[in-house]
Formats: sequence, C-alpha cells, structure tokens
Amino acid sequence: MTLTSTARLMDGTAVAARILEAATRDAAALARDTGVTPCLATVLVGDDPASATYVRMKQNRCAKAGIRSRHVALPQSATTSEVVEAVSALSADPDVHGILVQHPAPAAVDERAVFEAIDPAKDVDGVTLHSFAALSFGLPGFQSCTPGGVMRLLREYGVELAGRHAVVVGRSPILGKPIGMLLLAGDATVTYCHSRTVDLPEITRSADVLVAAVGRPELIRGGWVKSGAVVIDAGYSPGNVGDVEFEAAARRASLITPVPGGVGPMTIAVLLEQTVRAAAQQLGRSL
Ligand code: NAP
Repeated sequence: MTLTSTARLMDGTAVAARILEAATRDAAALARDTGVTPCLATVLVGDDPASATYVRMKQNRCAKAGIRSRHVALPQSATTSEVVEAVSALSADPDVHGILVQHPAPAAVDERAVFEAIDPAKDVDGVTLHSFAALSFGLPGFQSCTPGGVMRLLREYGVELAGRHAVVVGRSPILGKPIGMLLLAGDATVTYCHSRTVDLPEITRSADVLVAAVGRPELIRGGWVKSGAVVIDAGYSPGNVGDVEFEAAARRASLITPVPGGVGPMTIAVLLEQTVRAAAQQLGRSL
C-alpha cells in the first residue's frame, strides 16, 4: 500500500478569524451608517449543559464582533407551542435581525415546528425549509452554518470539486444533507452514507473528498481513507474527538481538518457573518 506524506492541516481557526474580522468591520460600518447594531437572538430550551455552553460561546463571540445578542431561555418542560410563540415573537421584533435556536431541543419539543417559526429573513443558522430549498436550488438565502463553513474551508484551500467523488457520511437536515447539496452545486459527484449504508469503508475509500458528519468518535478509520483524499471532520464528541481516526487518516490524506480547530470555529464565523448580512438586508443596505 502506498502512503502519501502527512496531510496538510486545514486551519479553521485562522480562516474563521478572517471571516470574523470582516464581519466585525461590517457590523461597525452598519452601526455607523444606520445607528443600528446587528442583533442575534439565541433561544435555548432545557438544561443541557453542552447546549448552554455553545450558546454562551456564540454570545461571547457576538460581543467581540460588535453584535448585540438577546437571550431567551425556556425550561425543559416548555411545550412546542410555548417555544413556537417565543420564536414567533422574535421573528416579529424589528430589533432582532437573526435568530438561532440551539439544537437539539428536548425530545418533547417538535423542533421542525420551532424552526419554521423563524422568519426566513432572520434564519441566520439556515435551519428552515425555506433556507434548505434556497441552498439546494442555488438561490440567495442563508446557509446552514456548518455546511457553509465546510464549503468556505474547501474554497480557501483551493480544493477542486468539479467531477470529483465527494462522500458525505451523515444525512441530518442541518449537517449532512445540506453539505451534500452544496458539494453537488460545486459539481462534485455526491454519495450520501448513513446508518443503513452497507460496506461504508468501501465507499469512503473511493472518496476524493470525504466529509464525516456523524457524531461517533473515530468511526472513520484511517484505512478507510483514499490516498490523497481531502478529509473534513465535522463530527464532535466529548473530549475533543472527531468522527475520523485523525493520526492514521492524516498519513493518507492530502488535506485534513483537525478537531478541534477545523470545522468548529467556521460554524460560529459563518453564523456571525450571516447575522450582519441579515441586519444589512433588513435595513435596506448591501454589504
Ligand atoms: P445526527 O442528527 O445524529 O445525525 C447523524 C447522522 O449520522 C445520521 O444521518 C445517521 O444516519 C448517521 N450515522 C449514525 N451512525 C452511523 C454509522 N454507524 N455509519 C454511518 N452513518 C451513521 O447528528 P448531527 O446533528 O448531524 O451532528 C453530527 C455530528 O456533527 C455531531 O458530532 C455534532 O456534534 C457535530 N456537529 C458539529 C458542528 C460544528 O460546529 N462543528 C455543528 C453541528 C454538528 P441515519 O440518518 O440513518 O440515522
């Protein structure tokens, strides 16, 4: 078996910093020109500590970028209609430009109903049916943030997609599915894999671009990676572990994202960038 040299790292922290710098500049210019500071509303339902940490990280990042944030916390016992009501109020509030509902909501809450209460003009996390359809049809709209971040990383590192085989492992509505649609829009030939896929290693070994979006620590073994492939690890499990067996995969890949410091920082950067764009659009400005 021929091994390629050790892969180059795709530095999501550095790329995200550049996106955040631009978003910070744009937010300041918008505030100067219109007197309005962009505002992101975060909605957290329940008491999952990891979700609370993610929301706090997003709020802190907003503050650093000169974006206001407004937080709505609902108890674990909240019903779907209570959450829908809270999100609808934010959709109708002209002082709020973007809305993020932290995923996953408690099992008793109909997350789809909650997402659909977000005005598509404020759907800066790209979770509504409207946003998914726009992304899939190549129409203007807000992208699901992690998929949008993955595409930005691929572009920054000059990864050619046209005609190449892209394999996406995972098909969730906020992650795997939209990543596949964006890769398709980039003229890749896309294969989706999921929990019912037969002989996953055989399929991943044929991937020129391999995206792992599962949430199972090191599910993708190094030996499942084609020599010279580009490997994007969007998975995250406690202990800073991704979906890919990093060391072994890095010996075969040409480019690979680390965990942490790969896809993760890109997600927040795209969220803030889209929040500033949403504010500009609602204020009748273009960036
Ligand atoms: P999810 O809704 O649980 O979806 C997981 C997907 O993986 C499903 O499509 C599932 O298939 C598939 N899957 C599960 N076991 C599999 C197996 N053994 N072989 C192949 N496919 C399998 O999760 P998600 O919300 O998409 O998140 C996935 C991961 O990404 C998590 O680690 C999450 O923390 C991470 N994430 C990271 C960011 C970031 O900012 N970096 C953002 C969002 C999510 P079925 O459809 O058949 O069930």
